[in-house]
Order: sequence, then C-alpha cells, then structure tokens
Amino acid sequence: MSRRKLPKVAAPMPLELPSRTMRAMVELAMDRIVRHIESLPTQPMHAVAGGKKLARMLREPLPETGTPYERLLRLLFGRVIPASLNTASPGYLAYVPGGGLFHSAVADLIADATNRYVGMWQAAPGLVQLEKNVLDWFTAILALPEGSGGLLTTGGSMATLIALVTARHERLPPEFQRGVVYASDDVHHALTKSARIAGFLTERVRLLPSDEHHRLCTKELVRVIARDRAAGLLPFCVVGSAGTVNTGAVDDLVALAEVAKQEGLWFHVDAAYGGFFALTERGRASLRGIELADSVVLDPHKGLFLPYGTGCVLVRDRLALERAHAVRAPYLPAKQSDEDIVDFCDMGPELSRDNRGLRVWLPIKMHGAATFRAALDEKLDLARVAFAALSEEPGVEVGDAPELSLFVWRIRPAGLDAEACDIANRRLLSAINQRQRVHMTGTTLRNGFFIRFCVLSFRTHREHIERALEDIRAALAEREPPA
Ligand SMILES: *Cc1c(COP(=O)(O)O)cnc(C)c1O
Repeated sequence: MSRRKLPKVAAPMPLELPSRTMRAMVELAMDRIVRHIESLPTQPMHAVAGGKKLARMLREPLPETGTPYERLLRLLFGRVIPASLNTASPGYLAYVPGGGLFHSAVADLIADATNRYVGMWQAAPGLVQLEKNVLDWFTAILALPEGSGGLLTTGGSMATLIALVTARHERLPPEFQRGVVYASDDVHHALTKSARIAGFLTERVRLLPSDEHHRLCTKELVRVIARDRAAGLLPFCVVGSAGTVNTGAVDDLVALAEVAKQEGLWFHVDAAYGGFFALTERGRASLRGIELADSVVLDPHKGLFLPYGTGCVLVRDRLALERAHAVRAPYLPAKQSDEDIVDFCDMGPELSRDNRGLRVWLPIKMHGAATFRAALDEKLDLARVAFAALSEEPGVEVGDAPELSLFVWRIRPAGLDAEACDIANRRLLSAINQRQRVHMTGTTLRNGFFIRFCVLSFRTHREHIERALEDIRAALAEREPPA
C-alpha cells in the first residue's frame, strides 16, 4: 500500500507575533497615544481643510506586501489623525461631545486581544455577565422596574431601530404599514431613519410642531392620534425626547407616559444625549417620567464619556426584545432557559459582536458611579455658567435656560431681516471656531439659525468655558465697525 502524499501546506504567515513584538507594538503605539492625548488642549480644534486632497492621497490598491509598523504609526499620528475635528478636546462644544475615556481604550485592547465571543452566554458566561451587569446598572440609573433589560449597541441610532422594531412587534399586526409613530419636530432624525429601515412610510412618522419651549405638545398629540384613528390608521408609539439635540429640551415625559397609557401606545424615550444625567439629582428631576418608558435609548459614548461606538437600548419588558428578534438555527447551541441568563444575539440584529461591555464596565468599576455623577454635575454647572454669561452679553439673545447641559443663543442685529440675521450668525459661529480653541455648531429652529453650546466632555472644565466666552466676546467685538 503506497503512502498517499499529503497536500503541501503553505508556509505559515507571520501573523502569530512573538511576545517581544506584541510588547513593542503596544509600547510604540502608547508613546504616540500619550503624546497625542497630552497635547489635546493645544491641538487645533479643526484641521480638516485640504481633507479631500488628503483622502485622495491616501487611496491605494490592496498592498501585496507589508509596510514597517513604525512607518504606519508615523502616517497615522503624523498625517491622518491630526487632519480632523478635535472631538476629544476639552474645547469641543459641538454636536454632542463625549471625549472618549482612555480606560475604555484599554478595555477594548483586552477585549480584542482575548477575542472572546459574547453573542451567546455559553461562549463566555463571565464576560456576558459583566456586560449584563452594565445593563442592570443602567436600568437602575433610570429607575426602570424589575424585568427590564437591554442591549449595548454601536450607538443611539441602532438602539432606536431596535426599540422601534420591538414596539412594532408588540403593538402592531404583522401587516403594520398603517402604524403611526409620534414625536415632536425637534426629535433626532434617527427616528425617521429607523422608521424607514423598519418598513414604515415616512409619512407614518408624525413630527408634531413642538411648543415654544421645544417640547412635544400633549394636547396636539391627543388630537392627532384621534384624527389618525378616525382615518383608519394605527397609532402605536409615542417618542419623548429626554434632551433634544437641537436645544437640549426635555419633553414632559410624565404627561407623554400618561397619553401613551390612555391610548395604548408604546412609550419610547430618546435619552441618547440626556439619559445619564439621571445619575445627578438635578438631572433626575429634569428626566422625571423616564422610568415609565417602555423603551429608552442611551448613548454611553455621550453621557458616560465613552469612545464612539457605544449605544444602548433598554426595554421595560426585556422579553419583548427577544420576541421581536430571536430566531433559532440548527447550528447554534440550544437556547438556555434561565430567566437571569441572557443571550445578546436574541435581543437585536447582531449575532457576532464586539465585546463592548468591557469598555463600559472597566471605567465604572475603577471609579464608581460617584465619579461620573460628579463629572455630570460639573457639566450642568458649566452650562449654567455659560448661559448666565451670554444672557448678560449685549446684543445676544439666548434660548431657554439649559435643562441639562445644552442651550442655544444667537445675535439679533437691529435692522437685519431673518435671512441676513442667519447669515450674520453663521459668520459669527465661523469667527468663533476660527480661533481654534473651541468648536461649536449651529442648528436651524423654526425662527432661524442658532448657535449651540453643548458641554459634555469629561475634559471640559471652567477654564475651557472661560476660553469659549473669551472667543465669543472677541468674535462679537470684531463685528463692530472700526472706530
Ligand atoms: C446622538 C443622538 C442620537 C443618535 O445616536 P448615535 O449614537 O449618533 O447613533 C439620537 N438621539 C439623540 C437625542 C442624540 O443626541
């Protein structure tokens, strides 16, 4: 019997690194990272001019051979990373800041390097439990009842989609196209996007004109629900905003919960920006009623200062998530049956997923909730300081006092019509940002363009607010014609 010749095995590729290489890689990256983080306050706030040229310069075909690691680090830290908005800077007051805790970066390194599978409980019971602890802590922060639970997602948008699909599944027949969801016209566009992805026509998302304080008007809500029912439509969900991205307004969540209850609707709260203020006493007061929600969206990458890519959906009846999402397959292990054990793959669209629990768990365990509460309280104070200062600035018109850590303001130069006023404010915003010490963004409300002032980074302190006020005053002064 002749020996069969074994097929040749290609030479092993050098992907399994020796320990000294692993250490050296991390150390070299660490040198760069530490220098980067320590220079954050003095880096320009935005360096995206020439971005297209850079993007085109970086294009290349699939490389067949490798490039030395240090050269790649030089490229990243020397050219690619600096050409961006400095979203991690203490001066970043744009959109909704967060900052990106370093702890989470280390947790991600551990999570990725150990590469455990957390989609199903059986594959890493301890790690899945740590992630479930995080979700239990979040439900406790919001005072949601026993039986609530949820899922960490990539962000608020994905969390909104999961919540809406769950609401659709719980409250509508399989032919759901007549279902209608209600929110104010200040709601985040993630709702409209989610509704579209979930199979609703855009006109089934009723964005009702918000009141003069940018809150969903309950009277109007009740009226429109009745009108829609009379037209044969199926109202199924009302969305409250717990801190809009436009002005930071918080809807009357208690009143909305009441309407939802009376009307038999699912009550969803978008707390992506504002939710973690529930850790503070003032925040809890502002967010009263959030504990009545059927589902809530939180963004740990905003209010807990985590790196981008960490959102969360919480559902009052955890099993509703499973009813809406779970599908079995013969190649997967049998579903576990203990009430207190979770399989994250049954609660949302993802099967395989990154071990994102660790990046929340590590900083909370290292510092405790008290540290986060204090940091968030500081943000509430800073927004009030900035609001008070701008309220006293001649020629400045402020919006409502900040309910949380965000407010809007603008100038109203005499003799300018609405359009000219918007142009003047856009110019002013760009003059402030051009100083490169702070970065703000604007938004268009019913009565025109406003500049937003949003404080949320853990790195932002009193001195940075002073700097922002200095730059605002300087930009305002520049507008005066020379004497
Ligand atoms: C940021 C935000 C969202 C969207 O969340 P992403 O994490 O960016 O996907 C939704 N709603 C509100 C109020 C937000 O601030």
